[in-house]
Amino acid sequence: MPRQLMWFRNDLRVEDNPAFFQACQQSEVVAVFVHSPEQWQEHGWGALKTAFVLSNLHSLQQQLSKLNIPLKLLTITDFTAAPAALLNLAQELGVSGLFFNDEYEFNEQQRDNQVVTEFTKAGLDVERFTDQVIFEPGRIRTGKGDFYTVFTPFYRNWLSQLKPEHLVPLPAPKAQASTQLANDPLPAFVSSQQLEHWPAGEAVAHQKLQDFCEKALNNYDQQRDFPAIEGTSQVSAYLAAGVLSSRQCLAAAQMHSAGRFMDKSTGAGVWVSELVWREFYRHLLIGFPRISKGRAFKPATEKLAWRSIENSKVQRDLQAWQTGQTGFPIIDAAMRQLLETGWMHNRLRMLVAMFLSKNLLIDWRVGEAFFMQHLIDGDLAANNGGWQWAASTGTDAVPYFRIFNPYTQSAKFDPEGKFIRRYVPELAHLTNKQIHQPPANLSFNQQQAVDKLTGDLFSNESGNEDGKRSSYPAPIIDLKLSRDRVMQAFEAIK
Ligand code: FAD
Repeated sequence: MPRQLMWFRNDLRVEDNPAFFQACQQSEVVAVFVHSPEQWQEHGWGALKTAFVLSNLHSLQQQLSKLNIPLKLLTITDFTAAPAALLNLAQELGVSGLFFNDEYEFNEQQRDNQVVTEFTKAGLDVERFTDQVIFEPGRIRTGKGDFYTVFTPFYRNWLSQLKPEHLVPLPAPKAQASTQLANDPLPAFVSSQQLEHWPAGEAVAHQKLQDFCEKALNNYDQQRDFPAIEGTSQVSAYLAAGVLSSRQCLAAAQMHSAGRFMDKSTGAGVWVSELVWREFYRHLLIGFPRISKGRAFKPATEKLAWRSIENSKVQRDLQAWQTGQTGFPIIDAAMRQLLETGWMHNRLRMLVAMFLSKNLLIDWRVGEAFFMQHLIDGDLAANNGGWQWAASTGTDAVPYFRIFNPYTQSAKFDPEGKFIRRYVPELAHLTNKQIHQPPANLSFNQQQAVDKLTGDLFSNESGNEDGKRSSYPAPIIDLKLSRDRVMQAFEAIK
């Protein structure tokens, strides 16, 4: 019987996996995962994301074992070693071809093209599938045949091309006869308190999706901007690692919305539009490869005079942002949510990204890298898209003069301060009005706050009689002055 090799990457699931399903229709299958920790590090992955991927790899191996499919492991230092390593394994196992689902980042594309070249030279087949998106990047184009750079027309076109067959997830393949090949041992992963928020496996991901659909999908349009409410799905990490597919999400939205999932006046319709944002950013990666190379989408914005992070004052501002000690409660609560759970609510991602790039005038790439280091759902396309949106350097970005005011945003989206109280407990005693902008006499010296940054973030021990009250820093910037500064910086490159 012919044998095929299935290469699992960002698609760590057995259900609704196009490449895996097709491989199993044709022959006996052996699975492989390429472990490249140095390359991941170079791509900015943090320990949490790495641990999440590996924990899901362990779970995948268990699922595959039930189907009698052994999972092999190749460990390489960088992507350039992948073609030879895969080809060696393929020849050793005597497979006739390789199956995988496409990835869209620049380095990943180069690696995959090289794999195709090497396999073809060796007389082996390669079959590639579209998995991360419903329509492969480049398929949805403007009337002139260009890539869209604005979301809304892309979204309309996307909806108009959606057919019922796009909404039918594939089942898991049937179990095959035993291959007599053993599983390879998998790398261990470091467990942590944060990782415990995100248990591994397809069953968990489906349960999360179902809970969301039953409890919050139809109110998503009303609740999604309020971080104190569990109004969003929190499936992003599972989507990023491919433990869940966007098709499975779309099918669930269709089922739980009486079919109104394409109507943007419904909760389900708005949620689906967010899934399309995810696709939009993947289309952009292919249309504009400079995005994968750390370049601004709008080339003119490369000239922006960001504050130098070599400067010690800027260093202190950055450190205050990173550790949730800026003196702006909603910003600090958001950053502490990231540090504590590895995830941050979307409204808050927009706020903190704008605060760093606009109010602190620190290059968006610094924030993008910090997010990538700490997010469990770190994903180049969405992360870069979000940062360039906030910094007004990207496609369909917020206009540079629209700068969120953290106080008014806080009062609007956390009106009772519930979210702030949870993550900034030293402010818990303030009234609902005060909590967004603590009175000046409550704060203590900023330098003291920054000096304290290396200590326990949630410690209320301020070392003076005022206890809790004094352990919160004064605002690190004057909002009005910071607004004028960034406006000038943008006007200078007009
Ligand atoms: P839901 O609101 O339930 O949305 C469902 C899914 O749609 C999400 O899981 C996600 O896959 C996708 N999605 C939702 N909003 C967006 C969006 N604006 N752009 C792209 N996809 C979206 N998302 C990531 O998955 N990884 C990232 O690294 C990432 N970095 C971001 C950085 C910034 C500065 C900003 C503003 C946004 C970023 N996002 C990122 C998008 C968004 O914040 C998260 O996808 C969302 O908060 C995840 O929570 P959820 O699963 O509850 O989302």
